[in-house]
Amino acid sequence: MRQMTLEEKKAGLKEKGVLLTIQRSAILDFLQDNTQHPTAEDIYQSLQGLYPALSRATVYNTLDLFKQHGLVREVTIERNKAHYDYKTEPHHHFHCRHCGKIYDVGMEEVIFERQGGLNGHKMEEARLYIFGTCAACVREEGNARTP
Ligand SMILES: [Zn+2]
Ligand SMILES: [Zn+2]
Repeated sequence: MRQMTLEEKKAGLKEKGVLLTIQRSAILDFLQDNTQHPTAEDIYQSLQGLYPALSRATVYNTLDLFKQHGLVREVTIERNKAHYDYKTEPHHHFHCRHCGKIYDVGMEEVIFERQGGLNGHKMEEARLYIFGTCAACVREEGNARTP
């Protein structure tokens, strides 16, 4: 499964007759540029200054629409908090317990893949969440310790 480009995603919506309004387009662009899996609230807060007419409802509805059309994925690594992912090809997530950031982890790093696939089953989505301390926080902890 290859990652769709922004142009392909937008063209796909057009083909399905979905109107790509300026606000919808801005939300998709924002997700492309923000690979750390923003929440709907993050998206709203970031775009509201640029698009004063933007409402939270529009952000939520747009994310639902994109999800339905397979343009974004919802990442539910945190309880009661949905994050959105522009990257729709299968991959895993690493959640830093210190800063709360969510990083992508490649499929090739997953052991069952290396061991020869999934017994002939066709994988459509894999959910494996990894928790720990991210590289940036490890560096910061190191810096804090050195006087
Ligand atoms: Zn961190
Ligand atoms: Zn991701």
